Amino acid sequence: MVETSPIRFFEQIPSQAGFADRFGRKLTYLRISVTDRCNMRCDYCRPAADAYKAESHSNILRYEEIERIVSVAAELGVSKIRITGGEPLVRRDLPMLIEKISAISGITDLALSTNATLLGKYAKDLASAGLQRINVSIDSLNALRFRKLTGGELAPVLAGIQAANDAGLTPIKLNTVLMKGINDDEVADLIDFASDIGATIRFIELMPMKQGLDWEKHYMSVDDILARKDVQARVDISPMQTGNTAARYLPLKSGKGEVGFIMPMSERFCEGCNRLRLTADGGLRSCLPADDQLNLRDLMRHGGSDADIRSTFLRSALIKPEVGIYNFDSDSEKRSMIHIGG
Ligand code: SAM
Repeated sequence: MVETSPIRFFEQIPSQAGFADRFGRKLTYLRISVTDRCNMRCDYCRPAADAYKAESHSNILRYEEIERIVSVAAELGVSKIRITGGEPLVRRDLPMLIEKISAISGITDLALSTNATLLGKYAKDLASAGLQRINVSIDSLNALRFRKLTGGELAPVLAGIQAANDAGLTPIKLNTVLMKGINDDEVADLIDFASDIGATIRFIELMPMKQGLDWEKHYMSVDDILARKDVQARVDISPMQTGNTAARYLPLKSGKGEVGFIMPMSERFCEGCNRLRLTADGGLRSCLPADDQLNLRDLMRHGGSDADIRSTFLRSALIKPEVGIYNFDSDSEKRSMIHIGG
């Protein structure tokens, strides 16, 4: 149980000390889920096909509430915001929220994670509102397989990526969760595709969240990926740099760009973790796999002040674990990525 005294201790730290956790990690990055609804049905992201029950609209943070939270976070030293979901573009008037956040002093990096299906419609408005760049999830380049994996269509995703590029939402990063026996045969095609369109692709290890997909059967490590001949033909796999960022990059042999690898399972990047997450229903989480979260929505709706929000951020920093441990036994639907926000 967290005591209140250490919070007071943190509050006494002069502001130039920044906003750090117990292990000295500065927390400068807030990932905000604006909805737990999605227009796709990826089995690795939700509990089981169509079994996920989205939060009611009244439980979801309003844009003014998100704006208020970001203002307090920025005062504490958060400078980077990523908007995510669910699928953030299914939430109405997202450019309006982007405009509000981009106007907050101290926010210098504003990005969006999306499946890109609606980017054709919104890319220009998002860019005009102040969005700087996007990450697009794309797990297959085969239209039939894409439909089977996601329940969605590939063509609007490709059009969305083009629209983002035209709108200047660059550099574009593509994210692919590689899954054994599902899409691992496409790794070379995905690398070539990214290189052709001038984007950077990153391969993410499948995490054991609450999901409708058998993690043990389909998990593959980055080492498994790098052992592939078609990958070695394209990527210079000389020792990967070490560092504290979530992604490690290796250069393409063609000289045209690099490929990223995100290894939440085989090589945790907790040591340099600078992240906090805000769920669509107002939960503040300091670690993706840890179940603890603090409720900012109820705090604000019961008259909490900005100072109370600030204290909640400090408390969240205080309970941030040194290392995130994935709980294979947890059965809570709230541990799915669609609920937490990717
Ligand atoms: N809808 C947006 C998108 O498609 O990017 C944002 C939300 S989505 C949950 C964010 C990211 O989480 C996606 O790149 C997705 O592939 C990733 N993700 C979801 N479940 C995952 C899991 N079990 N393991 C690894 N990555 C996962």
